[in-house]
Amino acid sequence: MAAPVEEHCPTCGAKWVPIQWGLPVDEVRVAAEAGLVALGGCFTQDDGTDPRWQCPNEHRWTNGRRDERRSQAAVLEACAGTG
Ligand SMILES: [Zn+2]
Repeated sequence: MAAPVEEHCPTCGAKWVPIQWGLPVDEVRVAAEAGLVALGGCFTQDDGTDPRWQCPNEHRWTNGRRDERRSQAAVLEACAGTG
């Protein structure tokens, strides 16, 4: 088991959801409708500057490249949770 992802909004400290970039597959769409994933849209910089996390107040942030896999793992976890 991977360690659970822990992230906090650096602006307001609220609970986060991972941002999924690109066209969402059905599982991601369901998770997004449940509020477990944020949809980032189709266009990304893909240079490590894309935000990977979003809070309910719509702050977005990233910690850089290392967050790409963490965010993706969190998306998959959210999808599994809607299973
Ligand atoms: Zn925030």
